[in-house]
Amino acid sequence: MSNEMYHTKVLILGSGPAGLCAAIYAARAGLNPILIHGMEPGGQMTITTDVENYPGFSDIIQGPWLMRQMQTQAEKVGTQMFQDIITSIDLGCYPFVCQGDTENSYTGDSLILATGAQARWLGLDSETKFKGFGVSACATCDGFFYRSKTVAVIGGGNTAVEEALFLTQHANKVILVHRRSTLRAEKILQDRLFDNSKIDVIWDHAVEEIIGTDDPPSVTGLRIRHVTTEALQEIELDGVFIAIGHDPTTTLFRGKLAMDDEGYIATANDSTQTSVPGVFAAGDVQDKVFRQAVTAAGTGCMAALEAAKFIAEHPNK
Ligand code: NDP
Repeated sequence: MSNEMYHTKVLILGSGPAGLCAAIYAARAGLNPILIHGMEPGGQMTITTDVENYPGFSDIIQGPWLMRQMQTQAEKVGTQMFQDIITSIDLGCYPFVCQGDTENSYTGDSLILATGAQARWLGLDSETKFKGFGVSACATCDGFFYRSKTVAVIGGGNTAVEEALFLTQHANKVILVHRRSTLRAEKILQDRLFDNSKIDVIWDHAVEEIIGTDDPPSVTGLRIRHVTTEALQEIELDGVFIAIGHDPTTTLFRGKLAMDDEGYIATANDSTQTSVPGVFAAGDVQDKVFRQAVTAAGTGCMAALEAAKFIAEHPNK
């Protein structure tokens, strides 16, 4: 355990594209930013494989590689990085204070919140029981274990379709189970899904239960329910991937700044400014519409520019 205090003009929480891009801009503006990252530096992009929509790369690149590049770039231009879990935050004082799990505290004349979002779960007891034993929210992390097996992917958005496509590299059969009869995913991804002979889609079904053995814990099937007829059906399979969206990582900020009903941080129009002057929010923590690496990076850039302006305008705050 350490017990140090660190002060910076720009304190950044989060190490996804938003946090790292904010760090690059703040460092290049001579503001010596400090960036705090948790146990998984790089954020959601580190559990993505192929990235073909981040501009600047004509060949497919890998998410973890892209994040390592951004981190190296941020450090090279002068960002100080700390691994710590922030356990409390005080926005009522100035400078703002973040207390870490290491017992370090970090103070910032401005604060950029870029803590991102995390995978959503169905909330079934059987899902909790088999998490890590056949139930996963990350195909790129766990797909390898399903070589020549049958798996299901739950959801109908981009994530679900990408996970299903990725899993065909390992599994023999991938069943996409969706609660409606149309997908939310982009057309190009839908086309790839429907063209892939290893993928079956089961429409209009919700997951009732994940079935498995106790000792050792292992998934053997899925019980699904038709959303209108209520008819139940069981499918034999070896793994279930949940891909039903994300929730913003904002528990720590609850009651301290304005948020919407879903917990996304509210920001001013065309700005990353939150309800607390000097505190800015960038990336998925404030964006439930676009949620792309490139838009997260863009709002990270905006947050750094706005933080620099705030510091210049409040030299003696
Ligand atoms: P989305 O919110 O887009 O989709 C979630 C899906 O899960 C929906 O189809 C939804 O169903 C379904 N769902 C939600 N809750 C439940 C539940 N309790 N039971 C069953 N199904 C449920 O999330 P994604 O993670 O797919 O995408 C998030 C954002 O990230 C999007 O903006 C997406 O475009 C983007 N993204 C972009 C990628 C890329 O460009 N390469 C890759 C991955 C994500 P319903 O449709 O009925 O609401």
